[in-house]
Amino acid sequence: MSTLILKGTLISAPAPGKLDILEGGYLAVEDGCVEGVYPRLPERYQNAPLEDFGRCLILQSFTDLHLHAPQYPMLGTGMNLPLLEWLSACTYPAEARFADAEYARTVSRALARELIENGTTRVCMFSSLHRPATLILMEELERAGVTGFVGKVNMDRNGSPDLQETTEESRRETLAWLDQSKAFPHIRPILTPRFTPSCTDELLRFLGKLALERNLPVQSHLSENTGELQWVRTLHPECARYWETYDEYGLWTDRTAMAHCVWSDAAERQAMIRAGVTAVHCPASNRNLCSGVAPVRVMLSEGVKVALGTDIAGGDSVHMFDAVADAVRASKDRRILDGWKTEALSVAEAWYLGTSAGASFFGDAPGFVPGQRLHAMAVDDSRLPPSPHPLSAAERFERCVYRRQSGAIRAVWSDGRKVFSRSPD
Ligand SMILES: [Zn+2]
Repeated sequence: MSTLILKGTLISAPAPGKLDILEGGYLAVEDGCVEGVYPRLPERYQNAPLEDFGRCLILQSFTDLHLHAPQYPMLGTGMNLPLLEWLSACTYPAEARFADAEYARTVSRALARELIENGTTRVCMFSSLHRPATLILMEELERAGVTGFVGKVNMDRNGSPDLQETTEESRRETLAWLDQSKAFPHIRPILTPRFTPSCTDELLRFLGKLALERNLPVQSHLSENTGELQWVRTLHPECARYWETYDEYGLWTDRTAMAHCVWSDAAERQAMIRAGVTAVHCPASNRNLCSGVAPVRVMLSEGVKVALGTDIAGGDSVHMFDAVADAVRASKDRRILDGWKTEALSVAEAWYLGTSAGASFFGDAPGFVPGQRLHAMAVDDSRLPPSPHPLSAAERFERCVYRRQSGAIRAVWSDGRKVFSRSPD
């Protein structure tokens, strides 16, 4: 058995809004799984290899439950358009470039590296509709140490001349991709109808059947923008609400992650609770594309499962520290819009969404729980300027969220393996 002890200021999120903090604590890891958290090193570990991170914070690593790999190169551009115009003018041309395998390799490798170096070890990610590029993306994520789900996008209508499949191509390529995906131990396939306007009923029916037969998870977009809602109503007059267009075809289950849900009304939120669908809040994207401000506090109090996503490149940052801070900011915008009737999220609550809540989509319990594969990072905040008073561990943690620093992450573990380390300067 291989044993490893990590020493530092251990902080984990066992419940929404709650942080377990242990300064100078020991995290024992056996065969890649968390064994326990201890204030003093147990006798049986006295001779075990120990990595001492001093005053560094040892935190759960991030789960980014919504991002688009082929949009990574367009990060920070085209931010002047609302969703539907932005898709046609910027996004579809960028995604069409994934037809070029070499280009897809370069982009995927750079993205995978940036994710790992910044503490994101689990993802739910959209590729493009191209099967070869999707397999290359999976390979590069696997190589870098990222784990989770990747989906070949399905879209057989309302694309662009360079970015659309026939229904038959979409079926055939999806089946071939699923067969080839079996090669990857840490990156698994997720069915990915882009969103209702991109998929014919026939294609959605095929995907729903596949999800059921092969017990596959599903990711898509829901109620992001009012123009989109109007479009879906026109395309599906038989469905009273957007969510029904997914439910109708078996794509609305407890293994479904729906990005955004900005405009989901009470009935749509209840349908999410009944089915166990996860809403993926993407605050930066919602602001950049003027989509709206998702009512996350209301969702949480009603019992909707909510996790966080960067949604690059609607979102303009790959870094989940930013997504956590943005989730707090968005909840304050919502508070103002709600006439001060809803509470803002605390940093600890937003942190939970970006770590433990996302981990639950992969079947993990919240926090550093014995028996679970280690997903963690060590963060060094010593290069920040001196503070006016000695900071508590909770204050240091809050400051790390708001003052994300390049190079602050000293080490990252993903699925029990150390996948990144950087020596202190
Ligand atoms: Zn998206």
